[in-house]
Amino acid sequence: MTANTAPDLLDLAPLGADDFARVEDKIAALMRTRETVVTMQGEALLPLEASIRSAVRPGSTALNVVTGPYGETFGGWLRSCGADVVTVSAPFSGAVGPDAIAEALRAHPEIDFVSLVHAEAATGNTNPVAEIGRVVREHGALLMLDAVASVAAEPLLTDEWGVDLCVIGGQKAMAGPAGVSTVSVSARAWERIEANEQAPRRSYLSLLDWKERWLDGGRAVLPHAPAQLEMLALEQAADRIEADGLDTVITRHRAARGATRTGIRALGGLTPYVTLRAHAAPVATTLRAPDGVDAREIVAAALAADGSVPLQAGGGALAKEMIRVNHYGRAASRDTVLASLTALAAGLRTLGVAVADTDEVLEAAGAEWDVVVSE
Ligand SMILES: *Cc1c(COP(=O)(O)O)cnc(C)c1O
Repeated sequence: MTANTAPDLLDLAPLGADDFARVEDKIAALMRTRETVVTMQGEALLPLEASIRSAVRPGSTALNVVTGPYGETFGGWLRSCGADVVTVSAPFSGAVGPDAIAEALRAHPEIDFVSLVHAEAATGNTNPVAEIGRVVREHGALLMLDAVASVAAEPLLTDEWGVDLCVIGGQKAMAGPAGVSTVSVSARAWERIEANEQAPRRSYLSLLDWKERWLDGGRAVLPHAPAQLEMLALEQAADRIEADGLDTVITRHRAARGATRTGIRALGGLTPYVTLRAHAAPVATTLRAPDGVDAREIVAAALAADGSVPLQAGGGALAKEMIRVNHYGRAASRDTVLASLTALAAGLRTLGVAVADTDEVLEAAGAEWDVVVSE
């Protein structure tokens, strides 16, 4: 870099209210919602926590569906709002079905709020939100959905599925920034939030502040200085998806899932953690380490063979037994998936685990990629 190179992230023209609203509209279109959206100036945990604290109060009964670590976090917030929490947990090897939700709603007719994660990058599963949404809507509870790991990786039909509070972030399949995140808020959800004395007000967690200071004024004046660089990056991420075609981006993620699972089955040694492909998230494939071999050692050996591949060990208690092959955003590519499989094969061989010939694995995985893309 030369001394007179202008820093290109500085001294930009200010991001005005019109620009901010335009980015919000692009994200709303991507989420398939005509309800209002609020783009909060923080990572996706901000609108997730804001949604729960805004809609839930003492006396609420919440159904919290736990299919991974984010669901566990929601349970803590729900309890801290004074809600009684009913928990439905799915094994991390599959999805939760609408029947389990219907049964919980029948057993606890007082449930007025349901929190659900669409896809979990951490556990590699994805839940049937269309079916679950129907059951929740029939019961009458509000539905909050964490769609951070599903937006742009698989269909997300916010309004059609009856999602009242839908949260997305740009950092996964959108290949965008992590620093701003959008939540859609249905008219039903606003009613509930406005009636909640305990909903945050004059707070960074407040959806009502955004309503009063931004939405109700016709999005004419921003409530505070916007996170300009993050908003511009979010817009570029949305524009790139629009240019490539959302269906094409989703297909790349589905192909990455299919090729990874097929490649692993050809490889041997490891097995997909999520049993059925239909329950497996297109955003990341989780793998079970062979008995007696620590997943962290496999990841370290694979990264020693190729440090550029998006592999990591599972989080927390899963670290010993789970490997995560991330294939979201730019990593949802044929080359990256094949490189991840090559690195895993090399790593397993280093540790003395018998696996198939790498060429055979890549041929099977590549063929599956092509099948999914041509479907
Ligand atoms: C990735 C992800 C988030 C965002 O969390 P980070 O801490 O930014 O990784 C939220 N929810 C789900 C389901 C995710 O997969």
